[in-house]
Amino acid sequence: MTESYEQLLDHALEQIPKAVFESARFQIPDAEVEITGNRTTIRNFKGIATAINREPSHLMKYLLRELGAAGGVQGVQAVFQGKFSKAIVDERIRRYVEEFVLCRECGKPDTKLERRERIYMLRCEACGARTSVRGI
Ligand SMILES: [Zn+2]
Repeated sequence: MTESYEQLLDHALEQIPKAVFESARFQIPDAEVEITGNRTTIRNFKGIATAINREPSHLMKYLLRELGAAGGVQGVQAVFQGKFSKAIVDERIRRYVEEFVLCRECGKPDTKLERRERIYMLRCEACGARTSVRGI
């Protein structure tokens, strides 16, 4: 008895380890925060933006607004006027990820932020969902 093409395909798929289908573990790096005088520096700012796959300028704009502080990106670091604890910085970055990285439908981080004129859309590459996000 010979197997049909479909049966062969089924068997082939069964032999692929399940892990192949799971996306890589997503982790937000801990912010390396340094407070000197009245300034707060996130030393690994660029690394965080890269890890969550977002433009440093977009993340920076969000943090400046949420912290209500002046500041700017300097090389791989972000510098803010004012004192902000690591707990506060980590919390704001976590909220940014929830709002601008994770898919609203499936919760996966495999998304792209697309800008159409003044409207930002979060497009999920895992499930195809598109949701609008607020401008910052
Ligand atoms: Zn999704």
